[in-house]
Amino acid sequence: MTKKIALFPGSFDPFTKGHLNIIERSSRMFDEVIIGIFTNTTKQSLFTPAEKKELAEEATQHLSNVRVLIQEAGLTVEIAKNLGATSLIRGIRNATDYEYEKNIAFMNQQMDEEIESVFLLADARYASVSSSIIKEIAKFHGEIGHFVPACVELRIKEKYADKL
Ligand code: ADP
Repeated sequence: MTKKIALFPGSFDPFTKGHLNIIERSSRMFDEVIIGIFTNTTKQSLFTPAEKKELAEEATQHLSNVRVLIQEAGLTVEIAKNLGATSLIRGIRNATDYEYEKNIAFMNQQMDEEIESVFLLADARYASVSSSIIKEIAKFHGEIGHFVPACVELRIKEKYADKL
């Protein structure tokens, strides 16, 4: 039987426990999950793609069927196809995510109907966690340990240590 591969694309700036939760659950549903570090051209990022990859790898090292890939540019469905992935994973935290994701999924479906978008509802513990809120809290030296893996907490603290 062919391997079921899923791509989880995102900006991961930074990687949070919300992302990790979606990945852990996906890793039980698919033979392989590929985390795609995408560059969102509309957002300025705190971490470089290489740093994001390193942190995502460290945070998921307990998951043997998960790997991380940097993707600078390209259409998500084409990238998925080239990787042999048949599913795109996205997390849904609220109605805003749903509306946004729905439109992207419709467009992706038109571009390639063989790639299925799979939505997982956010775990209630992390439904309010977003990378941008994490950065905002960290910038003012607030506590983020409950919401990001330890490796991310350390690196983000370093980033903001000499600022402010
Ligand atoms: P993007 O710029 O593609 O939205 P993000 O890194 O912000 O990149 O998010 C990647 C995916 O992870 C999206 O599907 C997003 O909805 C989901 N996600 C983000 N934070 C959480 C969370 N706390 N719980 C569940 N899913 C999340």
